[in-house]
Amino acid sequence: MVSPLHSNGRAELQDDKIVSSIGDLAPKPDIRPEVLLRLSGKLQTTLELSQLLEIFFEEIQQAVLVDGISFSHNAHNLLLSYGRNSVHSASYRLQTQQDYMGDLAFHRSTRFREHELANLEGLLTTLVYPMRNALRYHEALAAAFRDPLTGAGNRVALDKTLQREIELTKRHGQQLSILMLDLDHFKLVNDDFGHSMGDKVLKEAVTCITGCIRQTDMCFRYGGEEFLVMLSNAEHAGALRIAERIRMSISSLAFSNEKGRLQVTTSIGCATLTMEDSMDSLVQRADKALYQAKHNGRNRVVCDTDDELDTPPSKSLL
Ligand code: GH3
Ligand code: MG
Ligand code: MG
Repeated sequence: MVSPLHSNGRAELQDDKIVSSIGDLAPKPDIRPEVLLRLSGKLQTTLELSQLLEIFFEEIQQAVLVDGISFSHNAHNLLLSYGRNSVHSASYRLQTQQDYMGDLAFHRSTRFREHELANLEGLLTTLVYPMRNALRYHEALAAAFRDPLTGAGNRVALDKTLQREIELTKRHGQQLSILMLDLDHFKLVNDDFGHSMGDKVLKEAVTCITGCIRQTDMCFRYGGEEFLVMLSNAEHAGALRIAERIRMSISSLAFSNEKGRLQVTTSIGCATLTMEDSMDSLVQRADKALYQAKHNGRNRVVCDTDDELDTPPSKSLL
């Protein structure tokens, strides 16, 4: 059984804002059965979202000429486009009774006719279940690379991502910096305020970090209360600025429970990739700088090439 496909039922013509409704009186889909059969078969050959949409885009040309399609799913941070983005578009919300599966828009330089929209809706019904499976696969893959407590990338993700980023950075002659962060005296947070407060602090710290970095940068949980931040295209000075922003942002967090009020600080080591670096040597240099930051009094940023940044330590309440 094909579950109902909810669509916004509109062809939105961006130039003149005319909206034509597809109601009960709208034409029925008129697609050759062999086209639908072939499309369904092909859509079942992959669980990979981008491949699925690519196949869909190619195959639907047999029934309706379309310049391009674009798919978006905000919760999954997905935006995928195929072909050209033209002036006329018809967009649909993909949804079964249980699952929202994103929005899909068809683009074309000429206006979509009513019977073509009916056909697009007919074609979309073949996409519903393959799309649901592809999204579940995407979720499972994403979860395998994520730390469940904080949502930061895990060590598996770190190894894969940082290795690849180092190769790309060297190949394109760009810059790459990393930050190694460790929350200060974190054991005391658990001891004095309880483990659930400790967990809350970890989550909030990651929210702070991700709020201070660009979308292309990434935060990984390196160990218990240690995080590695990968700053793509960031040279030394830029990385230090971001590190300082993170340090201040974390130190301005305030927590409280029945045990009292709490503030936390973080020490940060920073290192910028050189041509001679391997992943291990880069991480080691950031780690060494972090050690130095701890040694120098905590709540500060230290770069592997400096003795210490002139960041005055603010008094930790711990
Ligand atoms: P330093 O300033 O030298 O880093 O001191 P510290 O107390 O932060 O370092 P230490 O390594 O002694 O303690 C780390 C603590 O982090 C100990 C451990 O209980 C806590 N921790 C690690 N993972 C988690 C977690 O997932 N949740 C909670 N609540 N605590 C955690
Ligand atoms: Mg630690
Ligand atoms: Mg610590």
